Amino acid sequence: MDNEIVKGMSSMLQVLTKQKRLKQWINEIQPISKKGRLATYIPQLGTANPDALGIVICPLDGDVLAEGNTSTPFTLQSISKVITLALALMDHGPDKVFSHVGMEPTGDPFNSIVKLEMMKPSKPLNPMINAGAIAVSSLIKGKNADEKFERILDLTRKLLNNPGITYSEDVYWSEWETGDRNRALAYFMRETKVIEGDVEEIVSLYFKHCSIEVTCFDLAQLGYVLANYGRNQRGEQLMPADVTRVVHSFMVTCGMYNGSGEFAIKVGIPAKSGVAGGILASVPQKMGIGVYGPALNEKGNSICGVLLLQKLSEAWNLSIF
Ligand code: GLN
Repeated sequence: MDNEIVKGMSSMLQVLTKQKRLKQWINEIQPISKKGRLATYIPQLGTANPDALGIVICPLDGDVLAEGNTSTPFTLQSISKVITLALALMDHGPDKVFSHVGMEPTGDPFNSIVKLEMMKPSKPLNPMINAGAIAVSSLIKGKNADEKFERILDLTRKLLNNPGITYSEDVYWSEWETGDRNRALAYFMRETKVIEGDVEEIVSLYFKHCSIEVTCFDLAQLGYVLANYGRNQRGEQLMPADVTRVVHSFMVTCGMYNGSGEFAIKVGIPAKSGVAGGILASVPQKMGIGVYGPALNEKGNSICGVLLLQKLSEAWNLSIF
């Protein structure tokens, strides 16, 4: 048989085997969603199907793999912090950004207020916790709130390779109505001069980018761009490689909040979670991964999503450590 045909058949077989393994893992892990909880503190997120679980893998070379609930839309929530950090770094460079927000993990829950008062000088510890992300949102350039959001949306559409991306008004208003803790963080930070300007406007911008709606396919695309040091599949450089280095570092040290250490040991892949149940993962120079499973563990990370990534990392030897 022709060499090329043999090669083609063997790579098809590999894809089928991988696909079968993904399906098995999903079937095995999915019942564990019963042990997790939806993020009902944002009431609209409480309407999700808690048993949903899906994964999309977009390798730098090879075919896209998709299994489970891959077309269910969900909101980025904290995963948007990766995009706003990248945009702020492109807008201002690292010196300015890191004069407003630190580079260290917290060991506290994502919405904790406690360290804001303890740190001297007062500065949120990193851009992946709520306080840090609100400080980053306050830095996004634009002549008014609408333009700032349009710039975030525009970059998101490019990174996700999906011009149809928009935000969920239902989730946005649900957060707006219940987001007093985030307002408290922001007012505290204005008093300590970490942020300046209209706090309500800054917090609304933050709620809006958290409410951007995506699927696992979109997340896998973003993971691909990060894994490919800023270039998309068409070879366009969407962000400088230096920015992806900073983003990857934060994903490893703070991306899974106060579960980041355990995740680094058990999974070892740069990742960022959101309370709607999404996990963005990027294996540098190998693949982008998007996972969705809205039932969360006690740290606010997708309970099944974490287990699925652990299986994948162990079986395919993906840990970067
Ligand atoms: N919008 C959410 C909040 O502010 C984001 C938190 C998260 O995804 N961990 O609480």
